[in-house]
Amino acid sequence: MTAEKIMKAPQRAARRRVAPEDIFIDRRYIEDLLEEARYADDGSISAYLDKAERFEGLNHREIAALLVSQNPEHLERIFSIAWKIKQRIYGNRIVMFAPLYVSDHCVNRCAYCSYNCDHEFGRRKLSQDEVREEVKILEQMGHKRIALEAGEHDGECPIDYILECMRTIYDMKFENGEIRRINVNIAATTVENYRKLREVGIGTYILFQETYHEPTYDRVHISGPKKDYGWHLTAFDRAHEAGIDDVGGGVLFGLADPYFEVLGLMIHNEHLEEKFNVGFHTISVPRLCPASGMNIADFPNLIDDAVFEKLVAIIRIAVPFTGMILSTRENRRMRQKLLHLGISQISAGSKTEVGGYAQRWRPEGTNAQPEHRKQANPQFFVNDERSALEIISELMDDGYIPSFCTACYRNGRTGDRFMSLAKSGQIKNVCLPNALMTLCEYSMDYGDENFRKKAAVLIDREVPGIANEKIRGRAAENIEKIRSRGERDFFV
Ligand code: SAM
Repeated sequence: MTAEKIMKAPQRAARRRVAPEDIFIDRRYIEDLLEEARYADDGSISAYLDKAERFEGLNHREIAALLVSQNPEHLERIFSIAWKIKQRIYGNRIVMFAPLYVSDHCVNRCAYCSYNCDHEFGRRKLSQDEVREEVKILEQMGHKRIALEAGEHDGECPIDYILECMRTIYDMKFENGEIRRINVNIAATTVENYRKLREVGIGTYILFQETYHEPTYDRVHISGPKKDYGWHLTAFDRAHEAGIDDVGGGVLFGLADPYFEVLGLMIHNEHLEEKFNVGFHTISVPRLCPASGMNIADFPNLIDDAVFEKLVAIIRIAVPFTGMILSTRENRRMRQKLLHLGISQISAGSKTEVGGYAQRWRPEGTNAQPEHRKQANPQFFVNDERSALEIISELMDDGYIPSFCTACYRNGRTGDRFMSLAKSGQIKNVCLPNALMTLCEYSMDYGDENFRKKAAVLIDREVPGIANEKIRGRAAENIEKIRSRGERDFFV
């Protein structure tokens, strides 16, 4: 670190040392599970698959056996059960969101990340006016749900800055609506800071463990506060302590053995279920991609598409009631495939650099201030560059219902309240009408004539599928009001 950087190094938020007994991932236990799994016979694996097919989820030993199995017949069944679960629990709805990067200042030295503090580039954080400009563009794309993203830097990007951004975003109202849910993906922090995030109205707190394999974690997190495995691992415990009951986990596939990672995720989920009565609200499945300042060839554990598909399907059948998120790290073909295997939420039209939506960093950009005429530094290079409208339109062609619903969070259906509704199957009575009403809004406000026609056919075809008669009637009425009277923001 240069002298100047050391001078600017931020004060760390008050941290607690995590006691060894609070680290709930036991590496030897996972390694033993994977070793034993090599001896699982076909009969046992078929029985595990029968169990998954009854939507009963899977225990560690069963998950390990499916991960390790190389039998193509088992794989075929895993895929078909994943699809069955997806249809039964999530129907054909796909929730839409977009990321909003507000700051790329970072004090960590993470080998895989372009925000690595050794990587020299013109770092920035958005002013509140710039936040407004980005949000305006996101709104013009039809987004109602965003994931707010930032590097870790308590000096340049303290919690108060994140809270200010959230307030700015929630205060913005447009003719067609507003951002109604802000999920937040910022570094592991203190109970006190999580409490502040909750007070401002955080949706889901998202944090990827990156890797559950501690030696790998230690190797790829070269220095900085993120190097503390225990602190990072127990972030959701502190979030829950602060009253945030919707948390979203994930690993960065490509750092360590992917089978180890899936078991790590499952054990983490169970730890939260046991301690707080509710596990992950969502699981994200990011795969390591090329980014500036890192060389992807330095990572020996990259996973190919076939392994990735298998992991996604196994997670789907192991935890049927947990939403699964896929970003634009994956290309169009892969996204189509994984939607079939269990993904229930995707991003669209994403920009992964700070100020990316307004392209403020472009020298030729009309609104580029001289201090902003720097090179863009996306956190990773996206592999699905289609516009949100193109993605949403293609989802409908493929038989899905793109959903802009944010109702659960706004109706207080979070944490275990959400999970019990999901497990009883009743969630369908709210998700389907909300998806159809928000898609109707989207089509009226952002679609061209063709899109509107296509959406109308889909919506009219799906409304009769709402099981509860009263809700069906109300949804039909509201859809009519959206179409003919320009009314907005209905939800149940
Ligand atoms: N600062 C927060 C933290 O420490 O968790 C947020 C991190 S960042 C905004 C969001 C995620 O991007 C990271 O958790 C990491 O998994 C992912 N990421 C970083 N570099 C990546 C790369 N080269 N390819 C794909 N994903 C990457």
